[in-house]
Amino acid sequence: MFNAKLALKSYPEAINTVSLTDPVTFGGQEIVIIGGPCTVESLEQMDTVASQLRNAPVQGLRGGAFKPRTSPYSFQGLGLEGLKILFEIKQRYQIPIVTEVMSTDQIELVATYGDMLQVGSRNMQNFELLKALGKVNKPILLKRGLAATLEEFIFAAEYILSEGNSQVVLCERGIRSFDSYTRNVLDLGAVVALKQLTCLPVIVDPSHAAGRRELIEPLAKAAIAAGADGLMIECHPHPEKSVSDAQQALSLEEMVNLVYSLEPIARAVGRSIPQPMPVSV
Ligand code: PEP
Ligand code: MN
Repeated sequence: MFNAKLALKSYPEAINTVSLTDPVTFGGQEIVIIGGPCTVESLEQMDTVASQLRNAPVQGLRGGAFKPRTSPYSFQGLGLEGLKILFEIKQRYQIPIVTEVMSTDQIELVATYGDMLQVGSRNMQNFELLKALGKVNKPILLKRGLAATLEEFIFAAEYILSEGNSQVVLCERGIRSFDSYTRNVLDLGAVVALKQLTCLPVIVDPSHAAGRRELIEPLAKAAIAAGADGLMIECHPHPEKSVSDAQQALSLEEMVNLVYSLEPIARAVGRSIPQPMPVSV
């Protein structure tokens, strides 16, 4: 067994739930769904996304302002302007924001505008970043590294927990394998194992796992059936025009339909999909 401590279920003071914002909690009976584009592109884009998703059981809005791109020549995100767009949308629609932080010097900024700070796969073992996030009073969404073992993943969480931040949610987003038909391989066995071993909520990102939009709904259902506490899914008003990850982006209509289609699966495993939250705009 791994000699991690705070992340494990066996730890005496283990906490099993993480609050995104009151009343949205990961790890409870209700499934938490985060949706939105890969990248924040404009205020208009984010307004369209939020206005559609707000009427569905989607509790968090995602969008990268700082983007970890494979090529340095690809669009790197709008940075501060993107964070301000997210904040404006949050005010308009009262929807909490999940957005990525890539380095220690971005933490203060991202924590000012975002409600949950995402650590991307490429940074799962950026130990300085993890330690610094351990001192932040915001929930952290920790994505599994591209080829990280479960032990490495749990220890990455432990880096945050051991610095005092107990609000960590794990995200399985697929791991590298030999087949290039899918972008990655969704490791649902890891979801089951992480739920058995750790006290941390576990969500699944089928978008980056599959890399193909037609696989996302069945994988999302399978994730809920396997015991995931939530999902993070990419969607866009015009998927084919998405500046990043276009092949995996769902349309907003597909996203809303997907979320509603999860209800019987959730019920079958003793969970529920929450009602859309009322919003006064
Ligand atoms: C993302 O969620 O925006 C992202 C870049 O995913 P990952 O870090 O899992 O590749
Ligand atoms: Mn993406």
